[in-house]
Amino acid sequence: MQHFEAIIIGAGLTGIYQLHRLVEMGMSVTLVEGADDLGGTWYHNRYPGCRFDSESYTYGYSFSQELLDEWDWSEHFAPQPETLSYLNHVAERFDLRRHMRFGAKVESAVYNEAENQWELTLGSSEKLSCRYLLTAIGVLSAPVMPRIEGTERFKGPSFHTYHWPQEPVDLEGKRIAIIGTGATAVQLIPVVAEQAQRLVIFQRRPNWCAPLHNRQITTEEMADIRTRYDEIFEQCRRTPGGFIHMSDRRKLDEVPEDERRAFFEDLYASSGFRIWLGNFRDVLMDEAANEEFTEFVANKIRERVDDPDVAEKLIPTDHGFGTRRVPMETGYYEAYNRENVELIDLNETPIECITEQGVRTSAEDYDVDIIVYATGFDAMTGAFDRIEFVGEDGRTLREKWADGPITYLGLQSAGFPNLLVLAGPQSGSGFTNFGRGVEEAVDWTTELLDYLRQNGYTRIETTEAFEEQWQGHVQEMYDLLLLGKVKSWFTGFNSNIEGRDKMRLVAYNGGAPRYRKILAGVVENGYEGFRLS
Ligand code: NAP
Repeated sequence: MQHFEAIIIGAGLTGIYQLHRLVEMGMSVTLVEGADDLGGTWYHNRYPGCRFDSESYTYGYSFSQELLDEWDWSEHFAPQPETLSYLNHVAERFDLRRHMRFGAKVESAVYNEAENQWELTLGSSEKLSCRYLLTAIGVLSAPVMPRIEGTERFKGPSFHTYHWPQEPVDLEGKRIAIIGTGATAVQLIPVVAEQAQRLVIFQRRPNWCAPLHNRQITTEEMADIRTRYDEIFEQCRRTPGGFIHMSDRRKLDEVPEDERRAFFEDLYASSGFRIWLGNFRDVLMDEAANEEFTEFVANKIRERVDDPDVAEKLIPTDHGFGTRRVPMETGYYEAYNRENVELIDLNETPIECITEQGVRTSAEDYDVDIIVYATGFDAMTGAFDRIEFVGEDGRTLREKWADGPITYLGLQSAGFPNLLVLAGPQSGSGFTNFGRGVEEAVDWTTELLDYLRQNGYTRIETTEAFEEQWQGHVQEMYDLLLLGKVKSWFTGFNSNIEGRDKMRLVAYNGGAPRYRKILAGVVENGYEGFRLS
């Protein structure tokens, strides 16, 4: 069994940077990745329309001036192929590929107490061992098919968006069904609508979507961005979400009505998440403020969709704006004005099954050539559940987290020594502008590993008492926000997984500055909450 000081699981944004830091430190390290190449999210999600909704230049790594100097982003919200090229460029530039193993899916990772090491079994049955096991397995990387009878029966091509084929899919003149209307579908639908002969969209719950307002970055603009990188990253450090958008310090009712209205219009005309994260500070916390802004967005949908019945179907009635992830769109609502696009409201006519020819609802059979499942992920914990992590006394992480994740700082779970989570449930990194969040998590973890090495420690473990404290804090942060009351992956709901119908504390909503301060305090107090030996 080949042994390493550290093994990183996952070759996405997080794993690539962690690998770079550990190689730099001179650690013996390897990175294992189940897919055939690197890129994580940006390797898998190849559906048409897939792109950032973080501003590109706020998402990329900040750690290397050379990298910042040489990489040009072409659009404010770069499309998937460009981000994948970027990650390939980083891996090549820092000569990281030679430390990566592809097609190396981790089936199990078992902690061997006597040897104080983790023993991994890969899909190929190969075994590897390490002292420190670092997970960079993503928070939206366990795709979930809907619980609908007959999905295997359909005769034509059908796939989950996460498994969109690598070879181009010919959509031209085809009849296509898309199931789901989350952030993924909202990017996909306008693109498919332009090519399909007929597009039928099956919607269970609509979302509050907002215009992305993407555009090209000119050469001059890129040169300007490059001179402002320090300022841009500093701005991201200040905001809870790690984006450049900071909420307006005013409360909604502190502002006169006409000024408020002008502000709303300005938000709707702005690009990216400003409409969500740069809104009045009480819009995501106070029912009345939220209701007023929600009504404004509802009217925008009514203005953009020609058929009033369709418009009403696209307006959510079970939650307010921004209390679920806001899908950012380009021509989404206008897609419904096309002759070839049809919206099926599953609340009126639920899907009964998938047939050989297409989708059967309680009202009608929709015969199609291709079915696309844009049905989302077993978010935050799914990727962990899909690996058999066995800790002290043979206890699995899956058992421990059966009713929801239990962690200290989102970084460790008691009973799983030397297992370090770089981005996962309840961590600050997992719930921010991902590039910013994971870079900080990797830096913190690298310093921790260096500290252990310098001080002759070989084991780090958290305790249940500190976990309990952290659960309390995570709960408190949920209580501050309206999103804590709404069913979505933010609160751990997934109707396609048995038993996922109650609230789970999956996300850390306290924001990046607060989380950073907490981590700094932990270090100052000699890694408080961790037992080092
Ligand atoms: P999602 O937001 O979970 O949406 C899944 C959709 O499928 C929902 O509309 C859901 O309806 C529907 N659905 C699930 N099961 C169904 C069933 N059995 N029958 C009918 N409909 C069903 O997943 P997603 O759109 O893939 O997005 C997930 C997250 O990925 C986003 O929130 C975002 O954080 C991230 N993402 C990011 C980007 C980006 O940065 N550019 C792009 C895409 C996605 P219900 O709402 O009724 O459950």
